[in-house]
Amino acid sequence: MAYNYDPQNIFARILRGEIPCSKVHETPHALAFNDIRPQAPHHVLVIPKGSYVNADHFALEATDAEIVDFTRCIGHICKSLGLQPGAGGQGYRLIANSGEDGVQEVPHYHVHILGGRVLGRMLQKN
Ligand code: AMP
Repeated sequence: MAYNYDPQNIFARILRGEIPCSKVHETPHALAFNDIRPQAPHHVLVIPKGSYVNADHFALEATDAEIVDFTRCIGHICKSLGLQPGAGGQGYRLIANSGEDGVQEVPHYHVHILGGRVLGRMLQKN
């Protein structure tokens, strides 16, 4: 399947340095920055530097090096924010909204790391 990546999306512009971000961490293949509209005391977005539209695009087409680097970046942030449940932290949630039903606003793959409060149920009951 061909994925249609929009190079003018806001995260692509952040990666090109055209607009600023509140950087948290950077690796060879990933960038992490604070969400501009935080929904929890900790709300960090992790994005790959490559042009991937969503989670399935990244999972299917990213290189092993990109996937490892991106995943380690998430681990680094969970550790540095003190969120690790196995190390005295209170835990966190990862969210990767994808496509219309996932209500994805920005069409560049990203994972939300949310923590710092009890986050409630995963989904609202309909
Ligand atoms: P999603 O609905 O998963 O696509 O989430 C996109 C997220 O990007 C939202 O939580 C927005 O608050 C966040 N966002 C949009 N523009 C910016 C920006 N310039 N800097 C940081 N976060 C942003």
